[in-house]
Amino acid sequence: MVINCAEIAVRELFPEVLKSYQQRIGPVCTCQRCLDDVIALTLNYLPPHYVASEKGTIITGVDYQQIGGRTEIFTQICHAIRVVSENPRH
Ligand SMILES: [Zn+2]
Repeated sequence: MVINCAEIAVRELFPEVLKSYQQRIGPVCTCQRCLDDVIALTLNYLPPHYVASEKGTIITGVDYQQIGGRTEIFTQICHAIRVVSENPRH
């Protein structure tokens, strides 16, 4: 199977970014639709980084540098949360 490491990194960082966003800026809708929209939007901002993997293998410890660095992913998730908050589709 083919895995996008950017997606794993985004899902890994997402809870932390969400918490930080809520503390700094305010409440965010966390319904499934909004969460999916944020993940999808973030992945559109970030360059994909695909790897082939055995089916069922769990990829952990993604190398953030390969996908722009942790700070870049953090920033893009924040940006996506803001966009989705302003135009919720739920
Ligand atoms: Zn929502």
